Amino acid sequence: MAQKRPIIHVQDIRKVYRMGEEEVVALNRINLKIYKGEVCCIFGTSGSGKSTLLNQLAGMEKPTSGRVLIQGRNISAMSEEELAAFRQRNIGFIFQSYNLLPSMTAVENVAMPLMFRGVGKEIRERQARVLLERVGLSHRMDHYPGQMSGGQQQRAGIARAFVTRPQVVFADEPTGNLDSRTTEEIMKMIMGFARKYRETIILVTHDPGMARFADRIVTLKDGNIIGDERKDEDGRYE
Ligand code: ADP
Ligand code: MG
Repeated sequence: MAQKRPIIHVQDIRKVYRMGEEEVVALNRINLKIYKGEVCCIFGTSGSGKSTLLNQLAGMEKPTSGRVLIQGRNISAMSEEELAAFRQRNIGFIFQSYNLLPSMTAVENVAMPLMFRGVGKEIRERQARVLLERVGLSHRMDHYPGQMSGGQQQRAGIARAFVTRPQVVFADEPTGNLDSRTTEEIMKMIMGFARKYRETIILVTHDPGMARFADRIVTLKDGNIIGDERKDEDGRYE
């Protein structure tokens, strides 16, 4: 791959949690460059540091040392307010537990990130409907989350993550609550958006079946990167 400026540049980050007397080194020393349009899977067993890494990349937590640049901007130095605004403008999230608001319909949930960007109600709901159609939920637009299956809720979650056309979409175990058939559907859908919009996607999973959908697999163990493979033209990892 032509090596231009990375969209995400992780420089020597380390994350240590203090638990009373004890220190937990969740990330030892991580260096990573992720490029525009890459679908990158962060893979590893439970406790290897995947969620911690994702939280540092998305600016949900600050690293103990080192820094994370997104499009050349040092998010590790931003204040909470700057970060919140930066996330709203540049980042989409897909959650394991969907995190749809129960009192809002599918359309209202998907339209919400556009509200934070100051888009008027009519336009944002029209865009939300386009996205919901694209994830195959035309017949569930006005349903509430409690009236939808897990797979349907996650499709709405995907529509919500992409509706703003963010720079980067982060997903932590997005199929962790779904059966294997639905997992496959959801992964194909995420990959479809990645290709269509040339989106950069960072995906966390412990499931090898899910990891194989990605262009690149970064493997973590005990807070270190122990593998970093990209798919070649034949779809093999090298
Ligand atoms: P994974 O997502 O790969 O399962 P995590 O990133 O959640 O792993 O956790 C990595 C390590 O850091 C684990 O040992 C975990 O117990 C520890 N850890 C994670 N978050 C915290 C926290 N807030 N406080 C203390 N220890 C934590
Ligand atoms: Mg985790």
